[in-house]
Amino acid sequence: MRGSQKIFRVFGIDVKLHYSWWFVFILLAYALATGFFPHYYEGLSSTAYWVMGITASLLLFVSVLLHELTHSLVAKLWKIEVESITLFFFGGVASLPSEDMKPWTEFWMALSGPLFSMALGMVFYFIYLLNGNVYVTAITFYLFQLNIILAVFNMLPGYPLDGGRVFRALLQMYFKDIRKATWVATKGGKFIGGALAILGLIAIFSGLWNGLWFVFLGGFLYFIAGLSYEQVIVKEVLMKVPLTKMVKGSYSHFAPNVGFDKVIKKFQANGEENFIVKKDGKFLGIVDLRRIGKLDKKTWSKVMVRSVMIPAGKIKVLNEKDNSYSALRKLVEQNLQMLPFLKRGKFVGVVYQKSLNHHIVMKLKYGL
Ligand SMILES: [Zn+2]
Repeated sequence: MRGSQKIFRVFGIDVKLHYSWWFVFILLAYALATGFFPHYYEGLSSTAYWVMGITASLLLFVSVLLHELTHSLVAKLWKIEVESITLFFFGGVASLPSEDMKPWTEFWMALSGPLFSMALGMVFYFIYLLNGNVYVTAITFYLFQLNIILAVFNMLPGYPLDGGRVFRALLQMYFKDIRKATWVATKGGKFIGGALAILGLIAIFSGLWNGLWFVFLGGFLYFIAGLSYEQVIVKEVLMKVPLTKMVKGSYSHFAPNVGFDKVIKKFQANGEENFIVKKDGKFLGIVDLRRIGKLDKKTWSKVMVRSVMIPAGKIKVLNEKDNSYSALRKLVEQNLQMLPFLKRGKFVGVVYQKSLNHHIVMKLKYGL
């Protein structure tokens, strides 16, 4: 996810923080310190409330992180590699690889998170019952509630919520058709999202400002559900296309010691913006005109291609392990129009993003 920063690594998984998380953290700490804790635990100093608010917010963050880690560790049990977990605005999201998942795998993976949150909620509840230090009691009282809410909300049967994934896995086992299952499960997501947003609006008009959270959350879910359906379909279509079918042997290329003016000439001729740089059959880099700043026209012939290219070492290339879907992901992630395909380390051709897009359109629109 763009705008995220890696904070640490655990079990071989990068944990990242999206900048939107800070916004929620500050808002939440404020709401807890000035609203929730003074309401339930009267007569303490404002410093005490702030200590409670900040600690509770941080522990909520830990709770969400543990929920996501549970998903990831269960995924690992099924030999599915999870690269990173990103914590953002409305919780967390684990980046999953592009291989297809069996319905049972998805079922257990999705269910494990809410089950963990439920269990964690109960642990906080028992600590709360011990009724010791007021700080501990107040904070565990809040975390008990939030972890239960997290479990229940995530189990709503709308894709891409955990419950929606469980629902889709069950539908997939029933229909034996991932497209149909995803269609129904994302409709569930849209319905639940829409319903939450409407309830939120009603609450706001009745003077309950907390309804705003529901409007945000519902709107977000509604939006993401629609997007997920498209993503799943694109994945479905591309997973079935061997990447070797997409590799083109003819492409525009330059030697590293050619002047930049030659690149511009080519651009003027056919509008291409990405070019391969190679020498003696070896892939050296990609020239991306969109990423090159303005160069003085007089210097064009003196500037060498190698000095403006993105070097091979900075590019995630394609190889025999990729399928057409993971290729599209690599292209989109790196914002490139083409990537080299290497077979056993040897450069054999190029995959264009537009041929992948073309294939999707042909398949989905015209059924070809
Ligand atoms: Zn989850």
